Amino acid sequence: MYCNRRNPDLAYLHIKPRTSTPGPFMQKRNCKSSSQISIRVILEYTLMFLKSVFSFVCRIWNLILVLAKKNVRKVIAHQTIKYKMIPLSPLTRQRLNQVKKKVLVLDLDETLIHSRHDGVINRMAKPNTTPDFVLKVVIDKHPVRFFVHKRPHVDYFLEVVSQWYELVIYTASMEIYGSAVCDKLDKNKGILKRRYYRQHCKVEMGSFTKDLSTVHTDLSSILIIDNSPGAYKCFPENAIPIKSWFANPFDTALLNLLPMLDSLRFCNDVRSILHRNKVQHMTFQ
Ligand SMILES: [Mg+2]
Repeated sequence: MYCNRRNPDLAYLHIKPRTSTPGPFMQKRNCKSSSQISIRVILEYTLMFLKSVFSFVCRIWNLILVLAKKNVRKVIAHQTIKYKMIPLSPLTRQRLNQVKKKVLVLDLDETLIHSRHDGVINRMAKPNTTPDFVLKVVIDKHPVRFFVHKRPHVDYFLEVVSQWYELVIYTASMEIYGSAVCDKLDKNKGILKRRYYRQHCKVEMGSFTKDLSTVHTDLSSILIIDNSPGAYKCFPENAIPIKSWFANPFDTALLNLLPMLDSLRFCNDVRSILHRNKVQHMTFQ
């Protein structure tokens, strides 16, 4: 008879009490389950590790993409795209000498530059874009900072067209701000000497219009590039519309105008060609 010494009450039942040391079967079973648990734990750890590695790689990849995007934008915004300047033949030079040198009137805001000033949230300019220059101007005894962004290719555009035309800046902005912007764009080259400001504009129906006749009496030899059709509504036959620019670093509107401006300098009367733009003025409004 089996005698249960540890628990005499169970002796008559011949039941062997559970002891702390399992039998060989239990040992095998426990061994099997513990190995399964350890495999599961290893798998879970491996999965977690792979997840963390994957998320780390994703973050690095996103960072690379952001940096690449920024650099590509910078390169595109400031790359020098050349308009092929073909040397004039003796005949075309003679033809050019027979016509008057023309005046090209240029608007500032949203045509050559875009700016914002202190305290104004600029929804049009993309965040984290650094201005090309900052102007400190005193208006009504209050110092105001203007953060100015240059339209892509504006420097090259001015350099080229200044060889073809007499350039005039005509802006509806205040003189104290407009003259400072002109100085920055001119870079002491003397290509933006003639300037007209808000006080030279006419107010019609609450908006500023520009009077080209005050700039040049001969309207056959003057043209204006302005993003606002209201600015040249009295002289639509002298106007070249241009899309308003705020922040797009891929904008090429100024470069696109070079072939047209190159050819217009040869004509007798700019209105004979530019009157065809009247339809375009409607689309730019
Ligand atoms: Mg404008």
